[in-house]
Amino acid sequence: MTPRCEKLESNRSACNCSYGGCPRHGTCCACIRYHLENRELPACAFPDDVEKTWDRSFKRFIETYG
Ligand code: SF4
Repeated sequence: MTPRCEKLESNRSACNCSYGGCPRHGTCCACIRYHLENRELPACAFPDDVEKTWDRSFKRFIETYG
């Protein structure tokens, strides 16, 4: 279960993730852990036009910024 974060609302307002329904929205520690375990990075590591593809892979990150 994802723990409740005391910064949940401010994190949510700063989050650019367009994937609705994710239980990790605003709980950045859980978000980062989840994506790193899947060899990915969270939405906020990507510009909005890339984020909306939902491809959060390391490969896409390197292609974007490399
Ligand atoms: S980046 Fe991933 S884990 Fe984080 S809120 Fe969006 S879908 Fe959920």
